[in-house]
Amino acid sequence: MFSKRVQTLLSSPTIAIDVKAKDFIRQGIPVINLSVGEPNFQTPENIKKAAHVAIDKGFSFYTTPEGILELREAIAKKLTRDNKLSYDPSEIIVGSGSKQLLYTAFQVLCDKGDEVIIPVPTWNTFVEQVKLAEGKPVLITLKSPFKLTAKAVKKAITPKTKILLINSPSNPTGMIIDSEELKKIADLIVKKDLLVIADEIYEKLIYTKEYNSIASLNVQIKQRTVTINGVSKAYAMTGWRIGYAVGPKEIIAKMKALQSQLLSHPTSIAQVAAVEALNGDQKSVESMRKAFVKRREFCIKELSKIKGLSFIKPEGAFYLFISIEKLLGKAYPTATTWAAALLEKEKVAVVPGEAFFYPGYIRLSYAASDKNLQEAMKRIKKFIEK
Ligand code: PMP
Repeated sequence: MFSKRVQTLLSSPTIAIDVKAKDFIRQGIPVINLSVGEPNFQTPENIKKAAHVAIDKGFSFYTTPEGILELREAIAKKLTRDNKLSYDPSEIIVGSGSKQLLYTAFQVLCDKGDEVIIPVPTWNTFVEQVKLAEGKPVLITLKSPFKLTAKAVKKAITPKTKILLINSPSNPTGMIIDSEELKKIADLIVKKDLLVIADEIYEKLIYTKEYNSIASLNVQIKQRTVTINGVSKAYAMTGWRIGYAVGPKEIIAKMKALQSQLLSHPTSIAQVAAVEALNGDQKSVESMRKAFVKRREFCIKELSKIKGLSFIKPEGAFYLFISIEKLLGKAYPTATTWAAALLEKEKVAVVPGEAFFYPGYIRLSYAASDKNLQEAMKRIKKFIEK
């Protein structure tokens, strides 16, 4: 009955664990959910208010497929302000979350058999989306500390390579590509005449250094890069579903054509809220970032005390990617069985490394309340030391 395209399609394992954890919570089972990639903060008040005003003013009609001009102008302004990138609103498309725009980008750029290089560990959505576009994901496995290098990219390039996918800071490792390597990677992409899709959704959540967008390095790489970002993580707006893509005008135009047949456009009210997010007071972004810094420090301190766990200090995002290899054995042979037991016995939800093509690890999200993190650390310790 099903098309070949979807026969091997996996639904998102991270979402599946989140659904299970939320289901437990609904039944009154006190699960602490550290599986999901979503800030536990409320959307800032100024953004909510802008949406209320839009509803009251009756902004309830179809918008242009690429998103309202005001929002694309706000995105252009943000890119100049934060990323030293200059784009015209015609080179910007707004979608229903960055996930949808990633899908759209792969659909318009990949032909059957085109190779897309994806550094691993990786968010599995990239891989599934490339497959849905009939492209071939070429996974390059990075060893801890999970830093992508130009050398590793070069090794993976074949005559069929079309795109390099980068996600910095990365889900699940939180690592940022070092700026020297980023330059070398950009030069390599230009030399080999390839394309880059740069997922920068965690750009506002960095703890160690300045952020460089690959497209800002020079004109040649800018002409070959589609940068994907959105308001979900930086503004605690996951449920509003607003993301954006910027890149060469002809690519964005094709994405717009596909979007016009697929989605029409993202919700009108959410678009107005996103204008306020990008143009309004940015204080809340910094205060949320600071809260994540504290949580990161707390989790690192507590987890370091537990024998058998090892991890590197992430540079961004809100995840810890933890090796549990020393804890695996007869009782729990894989990260999947280990994470299932942690959920069943101690009611803490984390995502096993298999979901990121990286067995022997778990991903823990510290985008949870201080109270929940404190309790979770106790439960994890109890589970391991029992
Ligand atoms: N890219 C990465 C790397 C992510 O981790 C996520 C969320 N898990 C997304 C994109 C999707 O974000 P959005 O809410 O904008 O679709």
